[in-house]
Amino acid sequence: SAPLLEVTDLRVTFAPRRAPFRRAAAPLHAVDGVSFALHAGETLGLVGESGCGKSTTARGVLRLVEPSGGSVRLDGRELLGLAPKELRAARRDIQMVFQDPYSSLDPSMLVRESIGEPIDVHLRLPRAERTERIAQLLQRVGLPPDAMTRYPHEFSGGQRQRLTIARAIAADPKILVLDEAVSALDVSTQNQVIELLEELSAAIGLTYLFIAHDLSVVRHISDRVAVMYLGQIVEHGETARVFDAPAHPYTEALLSAVPVPAPDVQRSRERIVLAGDPPDPAQVPPGCRFHTRCRYAMDVCRTEVPRLTPAQGSGEVACHLHTAGPTLAGMSVRTLA
Ligand code: SF4
Ligand code: MG
Repeated sequence: SAPLLEVTDLRVTFAPRRAPFRRAAAPLHAVDGVSFALHAGETLGLVGESGCGKSTTARGVLRLVEPSGGSVRLDGRELLGLAPKELRAARRDIQMVFQDPYSSLDPSMLVRESIGEPIDVHLRLPRAERTERIAQLLQRVGLPPDAMTRYPHEFSGGQRQRLTIARAIAADPKILVLDEAVSALDVSTQNQVIELLEELSAAIGLTYLFIAHDLSVVRHISDRVAVMYLGQIVEHGETARVFDAPAHPYTEALLSAVPVPAPDVQRSRERIVLAGDPPDPAQVPPGCRFHTRCRYAMDVCRTEVPRLTPAQGSGEVACHLHTAGPTLAGMSVRTLA
């Protein structure tokens, strides 16, 4: 079947930051040719270090930042280039949940008004039905009806995130984009909110783009995972394949920091410490942009850009080890830089 959301070669470019004593001010390609598809009912996890372009990708898809190129098709309809009025209507189908509940809950507004806002914009229900719908939404996210007449600050962090979700689903969207939506919560509250998301997905067929730096949470909720580094997807595939047999050295390093349950251990769980900091995104290294930190780097990596090619088992990987030589599993490790 056709994907619900199809993102092709998405680019988001920012004007160069003004920095004294820096001569060549290059534009910053925060998202540099990102493609992925999301099918109805599935959850795609998007992972990578902070600053890799995960959030900017999400914002570009929703046009909260304006992409400089590419295509975003929602249910077959191109979003880039839509006039503001059409875009507002299209946003009914794709809603965003942020880490900070106050990005969508106005602290000075009663819960009733915050949740009622998208209903007013997209559904325009008569008064009684509107109130009924808000009560149902609160129930759906596990909050009592009297939450309606309270303010966001009267709730705990986990409850506030439930309110945010209620608001996000108020006009029956098809997709939720969750950007670090549970990252600020303690572990048990995180688990409860994840459980709620899973219930909602089963009950109303929601589709999720789940962005997080916490890989164990991503592993739990995602059907497929995409890994970003410096504005590009370097690997993607079914969650089990990516976690159990990462094909990209960057994925391998990210995962080496995550504790895994004993039966899952199929490879050495040596902790890989990445050499150096991530490069300045305005000065992307030539060739493979990961080569400055990769312990497998070969000569070809410094000059040739690796393209995404099929990865063993599922998905794709962009690494010369998989096109020009042995796979990661068969590779002897060079000394760390
Ligand atoms: Fe490492 Fe080369 Fe693969 Fe890049 S292409 S991840 S530098 S081995
Ligand atoms: Mg972010």
